[in-house]
Amino acid sequence: MEYTHFSHHHNLKIHQVTQGQTIRCSGCERLCHNTVYACWQCNFFLHDHCATAARYIKKHPSDAQHPLVLIPKPTYCSGSFICNACGDTGSSFSYCCALCEIDLHVHCAFLPLRVTHKSHQHELKLYLGVVNRKDEIPDEFCKICSKVLNTRHFCYSCVDCEFGVHTFCATNEVKPELYMVDDSVPDTGATSSNSQATAVNEPTAEEVIVELYNLQLQMQMAQGLAQMMASFNPSLS
Ligand SMILES: [Zn+2]
Ligand SMILES: [Zn+2]
Ligand SMILES: [Zn+2]
Ligand SMILES: [Zn+2]
Ligand SMILES: [Zn+2]
Ligand SMILES: [Zn+2]
Repeated sequence: MEYTHFSHHHNLKIHQVTQGQTIRCSGCERLCHNTVYACWQCNFFLHDHCATAARYIKKHPSDAQHPLVLIPKPTYCSGSFICNACGDTGSSFSYCCALCEIDLHVHCAFLPLRVTHKSHQHELKLYLGVVNRKDEIPDEFCKICSKVLNTRHFCYSCVDCEFGVHTFCATNEVKPELYMVDDSVPDTGATSSNSQATAVNEPTAEEVIVELYNLQLQMQMAQGLAQMMASFNPSLS
């Protein structure tokens, strides 16, 4: 069975990662352990959850006004983005709103709103960070790893106990579909090449707007994408 993905111009095949095989996801740049979608001639791989990540998130807690759109490559000149959630850079897939300057890693876009962690007896809530941080607010420190917790980024906290931790310290699992609470079937990026042309539902007005927005974005980055395809050579280190 072959699959197509909007971010890649070849068909992808399912591959089971074997022990000792180092495969890095071209979507989130993290290591792959189970099944991946693979294009061997390009060394292009996608986690299952990265390949099926929805093309947009209608309502994400970080943006009350716009949907976040999944783009395969940052549109910034630098070729990378800084994730609003974890503060790390990324150079592959991101969910973004150009108007609000929101860029999120795929795995950071689906952080659960509440988590429990063995390091604290209360439930921890996702805190979305302050954009215009006043300098007098002192830096906090993560109660799990003891490193600086930048209050501009997302964190998990128990406000009553002033207990705050990094998102990646509190959870290392991606939980896709978490914000897919609307009843529409999420548009999964990966479709079987056989069924690609089918299953076209009447788009809602909102979806039309998103499509137009998508199109605009795609035009903007068509050039960057072409360059990426030409120079795509991920390291397998
Ligand atoms: Zn991935
Ligand atoms: Zn390829
Ligand atoms: Zn992130
Ligand atoms: Zn926005
Ligand atoms: Zn930490
Ligand atoms: Zn507490």
